[in-house]
Amino acid sequence: MQNLSKNYINGQWVDWSGDTIDVHEAATGDVIARVANAGRQEMEQAVAAAKTAFESWSQSTVEQRLKVLEQLRAGLREHSTEIAETVCREVGMPIKLAVPIQAGMPGKVTEAYIELLADFPFTEQTGNSEVQYTPVGVVGCITPWNYPLHQVILKIVPAIAAGCTVVLKPSEIAPGTAYILAEILHSTGLPAGVFNLVSGEGATVGDAMIRHPDVNMVSFTGSTRTGHLVAHAAADDFKRIALEMGGKSASVILEDADLPAAVKGTVNNCLLNSGQTCTALTRMLVHESQHDEACELAAAAVAKMTPGNPLEESTRLGPLASAQQRDKVIDYIRLGMDEGANLVAGGPQAPDGCEQGYFVKPTVFGGVDPGSRIAQEEIFGPVLCVIPYKDEAEAIRIANGTPYGLSGAVWSGDQERAKRVAGRLRTGQVFVNGGAFNPLAPFGGFGHSGIGREFGKWGLEEFLEVRSLQL
Ligand code: NAD
Repeated sequence: MQNLSKNYINGQWVDWSGDTIDVHEAATGDVIARVANAGRQEMEQAVAAAKTAFESWSQSTVEQRLKVLEQLRAGLREHSTEIAETVCREVGMPIKLAVPIQAGMPGKVTEAYIELLADFPFTEQTGNSEVQYTPVGVVGCITPWNYPLHQVILKIVPAIAAGCTVVLKPSEIAPGTAYILAEILHSTGLPAGVFNLVSGEGATVGDAMIRHPDVNMVSFTGSTRTGHLVAHAAADDFKRIALEMGGKSASVILEDADLPAAVKGTVNNCLLNSGQTCTALTRMLVHESQHDEACELAAAAVAKMTPGNPLEESTRLGPLASAQQRDKVIDYIRLGMDEGANLVAGGPQAPDGCEQGYFVKPTVFGGVDPGSRIAQEEIFGPVLCVIPYKDEAEAIRIANGTPYGLSGAVWSGDQERAKRVAGRLRTGQVFVNGGAFNPLAPFGGFGHSGIGREFGKWGLEEFLEVRSLQL
C-alpha cells in the first residue's frame, strides 16, 4: 500500500495526519494507496510559499529555468516505468499504451518546451515601445485523472518556464504520478516554493485555491461542470483562467473516404484509454447510404478489443478509472437503449471474465439521433455513436451541433475537400485523414470545451502578462 499522506510545500515534504482518500486499482477495485485529504490551511501555506518564491523565480534567467527543465526531463526518463505502471493501475490504461503515452508524452512535452524556451522572445519592439512578456504570478493548477501526469506537465512546465510559481492540486482519483513528479522536482535545482503540491478534494482544497486572493491565475483541466465553478470563482477578483474541459468530438466520414480505414481510425481513437480521453471521437458521422456498412465495420473493430488486465502486455482495452465512472457509463448505455438507438455492439453488462474492477464493454450505437442525450453529452467511456447524415452541409451542422468544440476528424478521398470541411468545424483541432497528433500545435477548445490553449508557444503565452515600455 502506497502512502501518499503528505503534501509538498515550500521545498519540503510535510506529513499529513488527517483524513485520507482511498486510491483504487482500476482492474480489481483494491485500495492501493491513501492520499492526503488536506484542507484550506495547507492550501494557504502552499500559496504563501509560492508567493514568496515568485519574487526571485520571476527574475530567474532563461538558463536557470532551462537547467531545471533539463533535470526534470532526465528524471521523467529515469522514472518512466514507475510512471507507466502507476497510471496503468490507477486509471486502467493498458501498459503497452501507458508506456509511450502516459509516461512518454510528459517527456516529449518537456523536451518541446526546452527547445522553445531557449529562443523564446520575452521582449519585442514596436514603434517606440519595448513590449515585455512577464510571468503572470502564482498559478493554481487543478488537474483530472485520465492522463494524470501529462495534464500536470502541460501546465507546470510552461508555467515554470515563464517564471511563474505553482501550486498543484492533482486529481484525488489518480494522484500517484504527481508525487513522483514532486520527488523528481525535489531532486532538481528548483528553489523552494516554486512548485508546491497539495492533495485533497476539489470542493475543499480546489475551492480554497481558486478563491485565494494571492493566486493570480487558475489553470484547470477537468469537466465542464467543474470548469463553470472555477470560472465563476475566478471572476470574483478577475483572475486569469485557462480552462481545458470536456468534449463530444465528431469524426466526419465523407462518402468518398476509404470507409474501412476511417471507421478503424475512429474506433481506435474513441476507445483509447477506454474512452476516457477528452478528445475522443465519440460521434461517427457517416453518409446515410453507408450507415449499415459503417456499423458492421465498427462492430468488427470493437470485437477485436477484448477488455483485460491492463498490466498484461497483450491487453489493448482496460477498465475505467473508478466505480463511479463505470456506473455513469453503464447508465448512459442504458439511456441509449431507452432513447431508441440501435445497440450494434457491447451493452450494459460487465464483459465476460471481468466482473471485478471497473470494466465496461466497448459499445457501439447505430442510427443515433444527433439531438439525443447520448449524442450530446460527454459519456467518457468506450461508447461510440454512429449518426447518419444526408449531405455534407448536414454533416457539418451535426458536427457543430453540441455545446462542445475540442477535437474532430474529417475523412475524404480528396484531401482539399477534407481540409475545406475541417475548416468549417467549430473545434480546436481537426485530424484530417488520420493526420498525426502534433505536440507543438495548439490544443484547446471552442465553446464549452475551454478557454485558452496548451502546447507549444501558445501554452507558454498563457502564463505571460504583457507590459509595454514607451521609450
Ligand atoms: P472533474 O471536473 O471532476 O475534476 C477535475 C479536477 O477538479 C479534480 O482535481 C477535482 O478534484 C477538481 N475539482 C472538483 N470540484 C472542484 C471544485 N468545486 N473546485 C475546484 N476544483 C474542483 O473532472 P475529472 O472527472 O477528473 O476529469 C474528466 C473530465 O476532464 C472530462 O470532462 C474530460 O473531458 C476533461 N478533460 C479535459 C481535457 C482537455 O484538455 N480539454 C483533458 C483531460 C480531461
